[in-house]
Amino acid sequence: MENTKEVLIIKYGEIALRGKNRYIYENMLLDAVRKNLAGHGDFWVHKEQGRFVVEWSHDADFSRAIPQVTCIFGITSVCVAVKLLDHSMESIQAAALEYTQAHCVRPATFRVATKRANKQYPMRSDEASGKIGEYLLNNLDGLKVNLTAPQFTLKIEIRNFAYIYSADVEVKGPGGLPPGSAGKGVLLLSGGIDSPVAGYLAAKRGIGITAVYFHSPPYTSERAKEKVVDLAKRLAHFSGKLRLLVVPFTDIQLKLVDRTPPEKITIMLKRTMLKIAEKVAEKEKALALITGDSVGQVASQTLHSLHAMTGAADLPILRPLACFDKHEIVTIAQKIETFDISIRPYDDCCTLFLPKHPETKPKLSIIQSIEGSIDGMDELIERAITNAEIINF
Ligand code: ATP
Ligand code: MG
Repeated sequence: MENTKEVLIIKYGEIALRGKNRYIYENMLLDAVRKNLAGHGDFWVHKEQGRFVVEWSHDADFSRAIPQVTCIFGITSVCVAVKLLDHSMESIQAAALEYTQAHCVRPATFRVATKRANKQYPMRSDEASGKIGEYLLNNLDGLKVNLTAPQFTLKIEIRNFAYIYSADVEVKGPGGLPPGSAGKGVLLLSGGIDSPVAGYLAAKRGIGITAVYFHSPPYTSERAKEKVVDLAKRLAHFSGKLRLLVVPFTDIQLKLVDRTPPEKITIMLKRTMLKIAEKVAEKEKALALITGDSVGQVASQTLHSLHAMTGAADLPILRPLACFDKHEIVTIAQKIETFDISIRPYDDCCTLFLPKHPETKPKLSIIQSIEGSIDGMDELIERAITNAEIINF
């Protein structure tokens, strides 16, 4: 039919998008959708009163677009629909008939559910449902109305254009809040299994991510960095726009190793990472730091060790994995496809010069006094931030 076109309708959580910032968040979500579709075919996306609509040129394969969209937080579902360029009742009835013929296995019970976002439309939703339902009953065999538990639900949405689809073909999205809608956080992203998962969970609550990776060449290899770049790229799939800063850490690390008793080095490194991350947060207007720490996983993550991080940064430190077991973290890492990247065998800087017996109960006061005795650190930190490599995804 000339009047119709196949499209994708994207639905998103309206609750998160209420209030005066609605348009800002809607645009962030729209940006995330456009970013994920780029490079997958000739798709274009437009807003349509509380929905996004994806259209495409003849040679694009829309089934490739669906998984690119259903991974974005804040999206509740995506469905293949028919768009009607003309939304007169006659056109809707004719298209509803064609759609039902093609998609409903009869005999079946059915119902028509109409949503009228366009309040100018000269008919109420229930009236429209009645007229369409009646038309289907008069023109198709094997249909019976059931308003409470139908086998086939035909959805009609009357917006600037009219859309027809079946509730049975909706693909669910991941829920959560739209990318960036909660403000920004700086994620300390190592090449390990945990921190990408922590970033994913933070992004799920709408936190926009700037990631910081501390790189210590030549002790950590170019391959280790590539691994983090690949992880950041994968995270951007869920989080919308993401910036990665690769901060040169060698000079700082060597200085700390030189001045710190070996059993305390990991804590000193972590505190310094938090300090740098906080300075990056200031530049990025971020309101929190995010790490992949999980209580008791290793010596540097005992509750005593986490306590010994106190005062390294003033910003709140979010530790989404604090109370997760390793296997729970691995399950999420596999689901979001960061696991296979994380297990590539390249060292992180924290595993360098690793002491045989790292302290599990470091004392904050002792850590602070060692820190106070190391001079010239502020300059090294400033230089590291200035020389950071920035990669935008
Ligand atoms: P992960 O699997 O995330 O690497 P881990 O179990 O190896 O964590 P640690 O090495 O103790 O644990 O790191 C704890 C957290 O510190 C990491 O989750 C990450 O947030 C941060 N971190 C560690 N090393 C780095 C690094 N080189 N760059 C950025 N952040 C780091
Ligand atoms: Mg690690």
